Amino acid sequence: MEAELKGLLSDLHSLKDSLRDPSHQELLDKMRSRVEHLSMAEKLTNMQRSKIKDMSAEVVDSNPYSRLMALQRMGIVDNYERIREFSVAIGIGGVGSVAAEMLTRCGIGRLLHLYDYDKVELANMNRLFFRPEQAGMTKTDAAVQTLSDINPDVVLESYTLNITTIQGFETFMSSLKNKSFRPDKEGIGVDLVLSCVDNYEARMVVNQACNELSQTWMESEVGACSVISFELESVSENAVSGHIQLLVPGETACFACAPPWYVVASGVDERTLKREGVCAASLPTTMGVVAGLLVQNTLKYLLKFGSVTPYLGYNALKDFFPTMEMKPNPQCSNAACLERQKEYILAKPARDAAAKAKMEAEELVEPECLHEDNEWSISVVDDSDIQGPNGSSSGALPEGLVHELPSADEFQKPSVSEEISTDIDDLEDLRKQLEALNN
Ligand SMILES: [Zn+2]
Repeated sequence: MEAELKGLLSDLHSLKDSLRDPSHQELLDKMRSRVEHLSMAEKLTNMQRSKIKDMSAEVVDSNPYSRLMALQRMGIVDNYERIREFSVAIGIGGVGSVAAEMLTRCGIGRLLHLYDYDKVELANMNRLFFRPEQAGMTKTDAAVQTLSDINPDVVLESYTLNITTIQGFETFMSSLKNKSFRPDKEGIGVDLVLSCVDNYEARMVVNQACNELSQTWMESEVGACSVISFELESVSENAVSGHIQLLVPGETACFACAPPWYVVASGVDERTLKREGVCAASLPTTMGVVAGLLVQNTLKYLLKFGSVTPYLGYNALKDFFPTMEMKPNPQCSNAACLERQKEYILAKPARDAAAKAKMEAEELVEPECLHEDNEWSISVVDDSDIQGPNGSSSGALPEGLVHELPSADEFQKPSVSEEISTDIDDLEDLRKQLEALNN
């Protein structure tokens, strides 16, 4: 294939030299660039590794999953391989593209790239992920190209669309509901939605979809509109700040329950907060940090380890990471949110019963013996039995050992000779000495 493409390229070159009509030359140039593109794609395909059926924990340099599976060996994650069962939908803005790469490297089962209809531009090179030679490609195509090279085991689905249009919203909803990846899965086809979009209107659309489908999602933001923050003369988020937030319909505040401060404070029409001129300033560092926080929370949520944060802010200027929890607003403007809130309240008795049963089951489980073999004869002793080197209760040292120096920590009782004497005789002596000096 490669030799044939090379031959075709050489034929086109000869043909171009023999033609004098400039209109034909233009057509030939176009054909040449297509052949070059095919040739490049062919090379990239040949370089790809083959798919791996099962994740292996074997520690060899040729195993792309050995370092990830080590999390299981170290007891951080119970079953890392479960990551292959999960589907995550993600927008591929500045944070989303980096987060998508992280999830791909982690071996996520299926990644749906949604919500983008832009093309890669050189102005995007301040970000991570996209490369200059991808300029002109749609962001979704460029993402598929990069991610499938990194990990061909991940099922990638890309949707080049604008979710804020009626047609786009319908396609978005049906892609989330599609269960072809795991037909036995409960609920809808995805396990988590990471909005990673760069404008208010698109966030409200993701919020609407997730509220309607009762789908947990995470929102992330780096900076805020520089134009608006300038008008308000106060910046709560800028190119060096950001946050991530977990949104569980009915249980936590949705995006409409607590609109961002700049929408409330400015009173501007939210629908005008689109991408043009918005969030113009951004640093790859801030986006990398926020993407890292987002994917870390995603892994904890999916693989059930550690605690999943409900909200984590990042202020780079002050190295400040605020966290908080937001309850849903009973007066939320989103009807689907109110429905989910009602369901959540009605399900409280069942939730309490399940929590009680779980607690009781945990109490019944006897603590397992961690190490049956104990070749070093190490034993656990009660704190009260532990004595310092000069412990008051015995101070005993193993046979043959003696203390060379007193312990620095030991409270030294003042000796009798150093005690301050208040004897009348001493005062009398002192008085006599003073008198002698005065004379
Ligand atoms: Zn709400």
